[in-house]
Amino acid sequence: MPLPQVTQTYRDPHRYPMGIAFLDDQYVPMDQAKVSVLDYGFLHSDATYDVVHVWQGAFFRLDLHLDRFFAGLEKLHMSIAYDRTAVTEILQNCVALSGHQDAYVELICTRGNSPDFSRDPRNAVNRFMAFAIPFGSVANKTQMERGLHLAISDRVRIPSSSVDPSIKNYHWLDLVQGLYDAYEKGAETTLLINNQGNIAEGPGFNVFAVKDGFVTTPDSGVLLGITRQTVFDLCAELGITCEATQISRDELIAADEIFISSTAGGVMPVTRLNNAAVGDGQLGLVYRQVHQLYWDKHKDPAWALPVKCS
Ligand code: PLP
Repeated sequence: MPLPQVTQTYRDPHRYPMGIAFLDDQYVPMDQAKVSVLDYGFLHSDATYDVVHVWQGAFFRLDLHLDRFFAGLEKLHMSIAYDRTAVTEILQNCVALSGHQDAYVELICTRGNSPDFSRDPRNAVNRFMAFAIPFGSVANKTQMERGLHLAISDRVRIPSSSVDPSIKNYHWLDLVQGLYDAYEKGAETTLLINNQGNIAEGPGFNVFAVKDGFVTTPDSGVLLGITRQTVFDLCAELGITCEATQISRDELIAADEIFISSTAGGVMPVTRLNNAAVGDGQLGLVYRQVHQLYWDKHKDPAWALPVKCS
């Protein structure tokens, strides 16, 4: 594998403003990262992926992201030519080469192409790729300051009995259609329901409700987000009770506070739901505590792995 000369480029975000990808054993600028249209990852959404972020030059909780990614590969009967150490090195190199201190780093395994376009997934050659692009967030600066506006959709998130949500996947049509439902209602993003009519998750995020100081999040039919896990860990440290359970629409509407969690942006406030204020319509106290500790933890060596220049 040709190794990049990363030393000169790291900390120079102008060198590759759009980022760097690793594909077919090579590091390439983002605009040259192209995959075959015959890849089943593209044709059938037959793929798994993960996203980890880099903040101020360090990966956040990379180990948990790698655990989830490699578990997903196993559940999908996929295999790649790189072990954990090699994948870590590839991710390090993508970020270092890109020059970005704050990055959104995605690793993907697609089913790949079958030599004769066979429909048997066992005949396909799985393809691993990764990229580092500038850090991105579900909520922009204004939304972080005043809180997001969410609408609950009537759409059911693809159920766990159909697709195991613990495998991070690209089955997003329900989420994308939910977004359009939300835009029609004047909201900025959406929350889908589960097949019992309770709250599930949104496009790229888990959701939390706060009532009388207790925090809850949906317990089923959702991706087990690494940021969701981090919120559990932070609440434990802050002495706040946080539990996974079923949350009905009415319970969410009656919440004192709502916030969402994602690697793309961390912990983000929600101050309007279905065109009405959440609680007093301001950023909540629990949200502010969890948000502050979340970003403080980015300097804790237990959770932050510095980007190395190899
Ligand atoms: N739920 C869905 C459907 C997602 O796609 C994501 C992230 O992309 C999340 C939740 C949040 O997961 P994480 O905290 O691991 O980023």
